[in-house]
Amino acid sequence: MSGDPLVMLCTCDIAGQVRGKAIPLRALERRREIGVGWTPTNLMITAHGAIAPSPWGSRGDLYLRPDLETLVRVELGEERVVSFALADVMELDGRPWSCCPRGFLKRAVAALDERGLRLRAAFEQEFALLGVEERPNSPYNLDAFRRQGWFGERFFAALREAGIEPDTFMPEYGPAQYEVTIHHAEALRAADQAVQLREIARAAAESLGLRATFTPVLRPDAVGNGVHVHFSLMDRDGRPCNFDPARPFGLSATAEAFLEGIRRHLRPLCALTAAAVTSYLRLVPNRWSAAWTNVGHQDREAAVRICPVFRPGSEASALHFEYRAADAAASPHLLLGAVIWAGLSGLDAEARLPTVTTRDPADMSEEQRARHDIRRLPTSLAEALDELESCTPLREAMGETFHQVYLAHKRFEVELLAELDPLRQCERYALLY
Ligand code: GLU
Ligand code: MG
Repeated sequence: MSGDPLVMLCTCDIAGQVRGKAIPLRALERRREIGVGWTPTNLMITAHGAIAPSPWGSRGDLYLRPDLETLVRVELGEERVVSFALADVMELDGRPWSCCPRGFLKRAVAALDERGLRLRAAFEQEFALLGVEERPNSPYNLDAFRRQGWFGERFFAALREAGIEPDTFMPEYGPAQYEVTIHHAEALRAADQAVQLREIARAAAESLGLRATFTPVLRPDAVGNGVHVHFSLMDRDGRPCNFDPARPFGLSATAEAFLEGIRRHLRPLCALTAAAVTSYLRLVPNRWSAAWTNVGHQDREAAVRICPVFRPGSEASALHFEYRAADAAASPHLLLGAVIWAGLSGLDAEARLPTVTTRDPADMSEEQRARHDIRRLPTSLAEALDELESCTPLREAMGETFHQVYLAHKRFEVELLAELDPLRQCERYALLY
């Protein structure tokens, strides 16, 4: 297609929505430092359009400063072009804005670095391809693979062109559900890529007359679309430090403390990582998502899973973990940042896991669960937000203002949807994600 190429400078916001302003691509270099103007209250625009009560009102100015490393420009057939770069939200004096989700992750990465650690991650994402005929018996089925037509190939080509290395693509268990995995990257890049991948998937689908939705749950009775964050810790030189053969499950003391920091804060974390009203239709037992505050060994229902190592002998480099209580209603930056901040609190406390589960917590007695501090994850967004409100480590990590506006935004969203039954809620979110 011919035209004046545009590029949108965007932030992935509290609502997990990608918003910004477009400029001519040729002006990008000139805008590298000055970016484009932005407004604090934009952060209060919910995924549903309505704007949550904003402490800033119509006042204040910020700007979006693009990170040119995140520039994606991919054409998908004649029909669609994905052209955007991610940006940091900045104060006019050039300081990062305290409520920028990407800034929140950057601060978490810096705090990790102060402890001599780095984190690599890979986001595994599920989505529904609307327009692909639903049939039972689809999971992993070649027939379901064929029915998505050219989507997978077009999608993978576009990912590669965007500098993202795809790994696997498969039909999943849910209605018209597919899953994509990509290679791991440093924390910030991994979160950037999660945003980029969703946009590319949506565009690839649209270019073929389909629609990709990353909504947490397509229908109340269906399994959900999870976002599983695979992660591992490394020292400053990039040497993995998750494994210690002398310790239970091969978990190094560092990894164990980090995992326990996450585990202890799972209930408030959900407010940030499973951030839709319908997220809680997914986080129930027997849906292969996550339902309890547990770290489980090779268990796909654990909130945090210790993943298998496929080649014996490669534990030192391959042992890694997976945060499963997340979905695409969360900004990937906020999600990964929150997981890191929670992990850091465990590191600082030299925390120890009460147990690593090897069986379903649902089969344990109440007393056994209590002994291991295994609790249900919140059963609603409202409950998760109450947990976040009283969580000191996450409040401190977010900073007072960000913590407050996040709660205000999401509580407003809870109210907005309160009148709708779960089916209508699912329909609403399916349009938005
Ligand atoms: N669909 C499941 C979820 O909601 C995940 C299935 C799997 O990949 O283990 O998280
Ligand atoms: Mg899956």
